[in-house]
Amino acid sequence: MYLENGFDNSRPITGMENLENFIEHSPVGIHIVNYEGIILFANQAELKLFGYEKHEYIGHPFKNFFYDTDFIEKLASKFREQGSMINQQAKIICKNGSLKDVLISCNTYYEDGKFAHARCFTRDITEIKKSENLLRFLNQAGEELAATYDTNAALDKIIKLIIPSFTDWIVINGLGDDGLAYLLKMGHSDPKKLKWAEEYRKSHPIDVNDQRKNSVGYALRTGEGYLIPEITEEILNEGAADEEQRKILKELSIRSVMVVPMQIKGRITGAASFISCNPQNIYDETDFNFAKDFCNRIALTLENTKLYEEVKRDIEERIEADKKKDEFISIASHELKTPVTSLKAYTQILQSTFDDAHNKQAVEMLSKMDKQVDKLTTLIVDLLDVTKIEKGELIFEMEEFDFNNLVKEIAEEMQRTTKSHKIILELSDCDPVKGDRNRIGQVLVNFISNAIKYSPEGEQITIKTFCENYKVGLSVQDDGIGIPKEEHRNIFRRFFRVSGKNNYTFPGMGLGLYISSEIIKRHEGRIFFDSDEGKGSTFSFEIASRS
Ligand code: ADP
Repeated sequence: MYLENGFDNSRPITGMENLENFIEHSPVGIHIVNYEGIILFANQAELKLFGYEKHEYIGHPFKNFFYDTDFIEKLASKFREQGSMINQQAKIICKNGSLKDVLISCNTYYEDGKFAHARCFTRDITEIKKSENLLRFLNQAGEELAATYDTNAALDKIIKLIIPSFTDWIVINGLGDDGLAYLLKMGHSDPKKLKWAEEYRKSHPIDVNDQRKNSVGYALRTGEGYLIPEITEEILNEGAADEEQRKILKELSIRSVMVVPMQIKGRITGAASFISCNPQNIYDETDFNFAKDFCNRIALTLENTKLYEEVKRDIEERIEADKKKDEFISIASHELKTPVTSLKAYTQILQSTFDDAHNKQAVEMLSKMDKQVDKLTTLIVDLLDVTKIEKGELIFEMEEFDFNNLVKEIAEEMQRTTKSHKIILELSDCDPVKGDRNRIGQVLVNFISNAIKYSPEGEQITIKTFCENYKVGLSVQDDGIGIPKEEHRNIFRRFFRVSGKNNYTFPGMGLGLYISSEIIKRHEGRIFFDSDEGKGSTFSFEIASRS
């Protein structure tokens, strides 16, 4: 009967001839071995898989084709015992010397209850194995490169990872912001050839305007990579610009080439060329896909190292600028100290001279001048303190003292400087503290003078002391302009001043709180504050009490 699809199903497929034909043309490799392990039969798929002619394979011991001969001995005896084996992995030596990963399954044909021969089926898993290995390699490379922060070190690692396991020669090109290609790194398994390759590159720079599709310049410009599995004489001749270039290219014995662009978020950052010089290692689509993944890793790594280096450079520049600033502050404050001290001395001498002469107006003016000199002295002392802090030279004279007494003393002193503010004291009975009395006093002066300065409406300032858990603390509360929340984290930074529309009217250098925080830190204490813009601030510190 003739069917619509053109097949005649009236002829049954029977008979040895048909069966043999079926086995011969099976896409799966099939072979038969006798008890001694001699190959009795192999179908076309099997011979094609390993590249042998019939006479080179049939009639020979199967173990001759195994890469690991010990392994085949073990496998054979196990097989004889059990009579079958399923999906056993092995490496077979092909005629061209390369190795193929295969899965072999065998069962036994018995005749009169005796082992007649083994029927074996061979499946090629080279590609699967290769993909597995490449994936493993990619993960390992990813891990190693992720921990690299230096571009040169990263490039060295890339070269070490990829040569010679995947390629013999790699050229990594970057694409600059100027649109030009520049060589990032080149590696070759043969140091002598690396020299030639470097010289070749020097005399033949990459042209990003290259119109040839199979050129690095084209890949850099368009983001399109390419794979040339086999470099023929013709391709080599076409690729070379002149006779000299042709000669060098031949000496480099290029067999197979892949060029893959590197991209970050669609932006082309460079391209890598993978060149195999080994006739056994001909790149295929699996390699090309791997190279694409690998180039993504390279691109990401180089982007990260670039960012890291930029940040590092910024930080180094800032540290250098800070150092220069510190040096300037140190010199300026030292140079200012002596003239200001003599200014103060001469002001006082003049004051008493004019006082003796009953010149009231001159005395008044000199008294104002003296106050201004005091302000100048405070600024210079602050600058000198900053210098000392930076150099680790702030010296503390630790002693035991009555905390509340110090607070009362300073509050009285500060009350004399202001008529617009009333300083209220709410003191708890506290144990004596051990610390530098003058420095702790300095913190208190800073808190109170800020409270006065930043509450221009002239209100009440409340100072509280508190003692608990072997700690003595103090807070200074005002109802002034307060500090916006977004500025809170910067308050103790040196030279920091809140820059709001109201702040330009307040004089200062942004050093008081920085110095205060350093003083409290050195007492192993804690400095903190609470503030709301427009509602006022409370600045506090606590340090350990004696008991
Ligand atoms: P200075 O007052 O000389 O600027 P400080 O280091 O003492 O320096 O203070 C840093 C900044 O913190 C001040 O410029 C100010 O913006 C803010 N500040 C400090 N104390 C108060 C306060 N009590 N109320 C509002 N803002 C304050």
